[in-house]
Amino acid sequence: MKALRLMNWKSEPELVEVPKPTPGPGQVVIKIAGAGACHSDLHLMHDFEAGVVPWNPPFTLGHENAGWVDSIGAGVTTVKDGDAVAVYGPWGCGTCSRCRLGIETLCENPMAAPIPGGGGGLGLDGGMAEYMLVPFERFLVPLPANLDPIMAAPLTDAGLTPYHAVRRSWSKMTPDATVVVIGVGGLGHMAVQFIKATTAATIIAVDMKNEALELAKKVGADHAIVSDDKAAATIRELTGGRGADVVLDFVGAEPTMKMALAAARTLGDVTLIGIAGGSVPFSFFSQGYEVSLQTIYWGSKPELIELLDMAGRGLVHAEYTKYTLDNAPQAYLDLQAGKVKGRAVIVP
Ligand code: NAD
Ligand code: ZN
Ligand code: ZN
Repeated sequence: MKALRLMNWKSEPELVEVPKPTPGPGQVVIKIAGAGACHSDLHLMHDFEAGVVPWNPPFTLGHENAGWVDSIGAGVTTVKDGDAVAVYGPWGCGTCSRCRLGIETLCENPMAAPIPGGGGGLGLDGGMAEYMLVPFERFLVPLPANLDPIMAAPLTDAGLTPYHAVRRSWSKMTPDATVVVIGVGGLGHMAVQFIKATTAATIIAVDMKNEALELAKKVGADHAIVSDDKAAATIRELTGGRGADVVLDFVGAEPTMKMALAAARTLGDVTLIGIAGGSVPFSFFSQGYEVSLQTIYWGSKPELIELLDMAGRGLVHAEYTKYTLDNAPQAYLDLQAGKVKGRAVIVP
């Protein structure tokens, strides 16, 4: 079968022939319906080098995956051939206290995981291929009957990560609150919808691209403003001088982090999701009193189950553009050039 593989650090991925995987005991092979192209893959291809993570290329890309069960190994009882499933992407040890809660992102015994700190598309073979090996059946979540399996793919990361971020600050998203979403791409356009579907807060979206601001409005943002050095002041104006109760930064560059701190209301949350690598000084007076700063890494399996349910009921959806496997390299070029609206999804 064909697969899009990262062969070396600091290189572009290549389409190559690899054998179709077969499931061992407890394992499942899925036929891929869709595999989302995440901006993190661009960081992986261009910024990572040996020693940054405890694994190395070659491996097949694609860490947001969904499809149908193709074959099961001995002892698998929770899925059967043909079932529509999403793959929970962060793969931990399965037995530490975090993993038992379904928070495999924060596994405390990563040396016992299929690969330490990684998963399919992150050190092990991912979903940018016709078939993908899932090493434990617990990583599969059944899809609601009404949910398009292609759309389910981006929901496992472009959906799950912002849902986790939104959920973490729910208590501050009161009906009179304002939430700012910086960067309305694959993740950000889902964040707007989760805020809209689960709270009555006012949403201000910030991006550099007109198409992204239009998308933000379409999926529920109350205001959409251009990302520049006046954006924090505009957010203050729109909130009667108070500032935003929650700021979600899906870029993570120095200017967006500065904007986030400058726009946050006292007692607010500033959450860093984007991994552009920016940093800002943090001191007693660098932001309003009692502002919390936090990072977010992906999300938990219970959260994935919740958001797939919401998507199955039509409360949220992923905007996506399909690319064939042969055209997968183009998907990353388009993502790099900022030409993708919503998510690029590889459909083999
Ligand atoms: P994307 O390329 O689809 O979207 C990024 C958006 O940000 C685009 O709309 C772009 O126009 C906008 N943007 C860029 N610079 C901006 C600026 N200065 N001000 C305002 N908007 C700006 O990317 P994505 O796949 O949605 O990923 C977003 C970020 O989240 C990436 O850094 C990615 O690596 C990271 N990520 C983090 C996690 C996590 O667990 N923390 C998970 C997945 C992705
Ligand atoms: Zn990702
Ligand atoms: Zn664990």
